[in-house]
Amino acid sequence: MKPCLRPPLALYIHVPLCASKCAYCDFYSLPRSCADLPSQDSLVEALLARTRSALELYLPGPRPSLETLYIGGGTPTALDPAPFHRLLSGLASMVGPCREWTLEANPESLDEAHLDIALEAGVGRISLGVQSLDDSLLRRLGRPADSRTALQALERATARPGLRVSADLIAGLPRSLPLEEEASRLLDAGIEHLSLYDLTIEDATPLAAQVREGRFVLPDPDSAYEEVERTGVVLARAGFRRYEVSNWSRPGAECLHNRAYWRLDSYLGLGPGGVSTLQLADDPGLGPGLRGGSLRLEEDRDLGLFTADPEGRAAARTELSPRDSAFEVILMGYRTIWGVDRPAFARRFGLELESLIGGSLNAWAGHLRPEGGLDDSGLDLLNPFLVDCLGELESNFPVPASP
Ligand code: SF4
Repeated sequence: MKPCLRPPLALYIHVPLCASKCAYCDFYSLPRSCADLPSQDSLVEALLARTRSALELYLPGPRPSLETLYIGGGTPTALDPAPFHRLLSGLASMVGPCREWTLEANPESLDEAHLDIALEAGVGRISLGVQSLDDSLLRRLGRPADSRTALQALERATARPGLRVSADLIAGLPRSLPLEEEASRLLDAGIEHLSLYDLTIEDATPLAAQVREGRFVLPDPDSAYEEVERTGVVLARAGFRRYEVSNWSRPGAECLHNRAYWRLDSYLGLGPGGVSTLQLADDPGLGPGLRGGSLRLEEDRDLGLFTADPEGRAAARTELSPRDSAFEVILMGYRTIWGVDRPAFARRFGLELESLIGGSLNAWAGHLRPEGGLDDSGLDLLNPFLVDCLGELESNFPVPASP
């Protein structure tokens, strides 16, 4: 029997194309120079066909409403203007207006033509991958744009009335310019949101080999932690607030789309490598421990197969049990200052959060905010907090009675 699913609120489209491949990247994306790359037109038509069929299945009806739409990748702006226009206008014709439509972009391809197309389609937010303003570091990371190009792209985006601009920086790198100074320049350029990620060295990447061979030396963890602390001070002075472990913004400029992931709401992730999670509909008739599960769908990381048959290919399905879903709601929710929405948790799982992790919440009460999530010092201690919560959840989650 087909499970009854809560309709998705958020839609992510993965454009697996980049100007070139960065040395640290293990996202599914291919460089424009890749010999096996299908044409951009066929990639765009395949993404639109996949979106159309997924919307018909999970959100039937003309131009369904979504809270958020996010076009990421990869680098969506690596598409030439004509296929980029076809993708954005095609998506705009398929879904109704949303509260937030974000476009991920990289500095080398965020030109006026791409901005015109994006704004005309309805994009209201740009997330620009700056990563650093240290040119020598950018070259070593294999980034295609230098700091000047990044600042010019930011200037172009912030000059557009009504367009909200976010930037990404990577922390924990051997940079010659202090991270807080880079953040300060981005603030001067007019960003209202900053994602500050720690670099994860992924095994199969060229950068991992350089680190193993001692050709790329990472700063020690203490100094990496301190640079983020100093950057947090600069951001706070500018009126930004850390609302998630890796995200700071002006109040009201938080990324709405990512909240679907942090709450484990229903969301669709389409395109090669996309991941969807669909919440099973609440069924108050089911007892504690039996409701609140989810269905996860993972699309193949294979662009050739995807463009050949975008609608026919079934995504890999994994059912997340109620216990695994509750685990993930806690794991993701406490990344944010709001923590877990307790009434929503009780409605979903038929269980009070306190009955599962009350001991840990008491033990960590000194680090909790009135809103429910961890305070700044608590966010720095997220991992030990989660170890406590998840250990307690393991013991307290009801074992469903055998049928
Ligand atoms: S631009 Fe982003 S997705 Fe593309 S290769 Fe670089 S890190 Fe990966």
